[in-house]
Amino acid sequence: MMSEETDYAKERQYMVERQLKSRDIRDRRVLSAMRSIPRHRFVPSEYRHLAYTDGPLPIGSGQTISQPYIVALMTQMLRLKGYEIVLEIGTGSGYQAAILAILAKDIHTIERHADLAEHASQVLTSLELTNVQVHTRDGSLGLPEFAPYQAILVTAAAPQVPQTLLSQLDDGGCLVIPVGGRLGQNLERWERHGSEYTSEYQIPVAFVPLRGRYGWQEGEWETY
Ligand code: SAM
Repeated sequence: MMSEETDYAKERQYMVERQLKSRDIRDRRVLSAMRSIPRHRFVPSEYRHLAYTDGPLPIGSGQTISQPYIVALMTQMLRLKGYEIVLEIGTGSGYQAAILAILAKDIHTIERHADLAEHASQVLTSLELTNVQVHTRDGSLGLPEFAPYQAILVTAAAPQVPQTLLSQLDDGGCLVIPVGGRLGQNLERWERHGSEYTSEYQIPVAFVPLRGRYGWQEGEWETY
């Protein structure tokens, strides 16, 4: 008899073929990480049967786990080699952090909702992903105590790129962030070269808002 885990592994393989390889995900390490991390473990039980479908899903507290393709695309944009210390803003379910944990040395991930942070931390521990530390605080301020970071990934939409995050990038490091409001955002990739920063536009996306000091304030998001 086939186990539930075997069925999920098949669904995961299908997800990689149909949603990632057939689009523009080419980085073999990213494809391999997406093949190995059990996404269903990060999804609430009532949505588990939809874990490998081509879209975001609710995870509680009004938040979402991002579409697999967007997770893979943002990860690919970081061009990780394996030695990096990475900062993620917006832990949510912990799924993106798990993918990063396979591809880099140490991951710090920040979530403002304590219940989500606690749950994500439990799932990551149960998968023995011991190189991830979950922090509960305002991620728009970054995490100066562990800076500089070779890569920073923001998984919520910011009104503009927070200067705090740019200043915590290592020389040669890169930041991937959705910038914009409720009506539309662009995924941007920034690189630091000494005191110079370059940025390039990637694709239109739809994320929940980044809150906090350098994020959207209550009431603002609704009008942009
Ligand atoms: N990366 C997540 C995953 O893999 O499930 C999905 C992230 S969800 C689209 C965005 C998350 O950003 C939410 O959980 C939200 O609570 C969090 N967030 C928003 N503003 C934040 C802030 N200032 N600091 C930390 N987390 C924040």
